[in-house]
Amino acid sequence: MTKVDIDWDNLGFDFIPTKTMFWATKEGDKPWTEGELKPFGTFEINPGACVLNYGQGLFEGMKAQRTKDNEILLFRPLENGKRIKEGCIRLCIPPYDPEKFVYWVKEVVKANEEYVPPYGKGSLYIRPLIIGTGPILGVAPAPSYTMMIFTIPVGPYFKEGFQPIKLEISKKYHRAAPKGTGHTKYIGNYAGTMLPAIETKKRGYSQIIYLDAAEEKYIEEVGTANFFCVVDGKLLTPKLGSILPGITRDAVMKLAEDQLGMTVEERDIPYEEVFKSSEVFCTGTAAVVTPIGSIAFEGKEYIFNEFKVGEITQKLYDLLTKIQLGELEDPYGWAVNVKD
Ligand SMILES: *Cc1c(COP(=O)(O)O)cnc(C)c1O
Repeated sequence: MTKVDIDWDNLGFDFIPTKTMFWATKEGDKPWTEGELKPFGTFEINPGACVLNYGQGLFEGMKAQRTKDNEILLFRPLENGKRIKEGCIRLCIPPYDPEKFVYWVKEVVKANEEYVPPYGKGSLYIRPLIIGTGPILGVAPAPSYTMMIFTIPVGPYFKEGFQPIKLEISKKYHRAAPKGTGHTKYIGNYAGTMLPAIETKKRGYSQIIYLDAAEEKYIEEVGTANFFCVVDGKLLTPKLGSILPGITRDAVMKLAEDQLGMTVEERDIPYEEVFKSSEVFCTGTAAVVTPIGSIAFEGKEYIFNEFKVGEITQKLYDLLTKIQLGELEDPYGWAVNVKD
C-alpha cells in the first residue's frame, strides 16, 4: 500500500509531488470538460492569463487520512465543493459542480493511494485549484479556465505533541475588508498575509490574529485558521462576514453544542473580551484544533489556562480527530470513504 520511497517517520510539510493530478478546462461558452487524471507536472500558460495579471483564482484545502484498518477517509468534502462554487460566483469564474468535485477528489486520492501516509503518520493534503488561464487585457473575467486537483503527503501537525501556541493581535495589518473577498479562498487574499507572518515570527509568535478592518475592535481570525474562545463557560467564535467560513469551524461548533452541551455564540467579539477567556484555540484543516496559550497585544502578554491545553479544547480535538479517523460514531456523516 505504501510502496513509495518516502520516510514516513520524518514527513513534514515539504512539497512532495505525487503521481497523478486531475485536470479539466472550460473554453468560452462551452461547459467544463469531463476532466481526466494525468501525470502531475508543469504546464504552459499564456503571459496574458487573467490569473497571472489580475489574480482570478481560487483554491481549496482538504485532507485524506488512513484509518487503523487501512480505509481512506475524507472529511465533509461536499462542503469544500460548495465553498469553491460560492467563491467562483464571487470571482466570476464559471462554477464547478460540487458533486463532480467530490467525485474527482476521490478519484485523485485513489490514484495516489500509495502516498497516503500510514495510520497516524500524517495525511494526504488535497489542493484543488481553479484559475482563469485565458489571456485578457481589460480587467474582466478570463475567456477560459483550468481546474486542477493535486495532492501532497504531509506529516502530522502536532509532531512535538499537542502544544499551545503564542499569538499576537495586529493593528498594523488587515487581512480582509467587509464586503470584499475574505470569505472566499481567493488566492489573492494570501500573499498579503506573508509579511505580517514573517514579522510576527521574528518577534517570537506563531501567527497574527487579525482584527476587523472597519473598526479594529473585533477578532476576525488567525492567518489561516478560525478563532474560538471560552468565556464564562460559553464557546464564542467570530460571526461570518469577512472571515473564511471554515468547515472545521462549523464542525467544532456542532460538536460543542451536541456533544459537550455548550452554548455557542457566533458574534462580534471585542478583543478585550478575549483576554478574560479560560481557553482559546483556533481551527482549520491543517491546524485541526490548535490550543492558544497566550496572546500579545500592545506590549502585554495575556496567558490562558496557565499555558496548558484546556479541557474543552482537548475534548473538541479528541471528538473531531476520532470522527475524522472513523473511530467514533459519526451521526453527521462527515467522514467519507474514498471508495463510496
Ligand atoms: C482555509 C481557511 C480556514 C480554515 O478552513 P477549513 O475549512 O476549516 O480548513 C480559515 N481561515 C482561512 C483564511 C482559510 O483560508
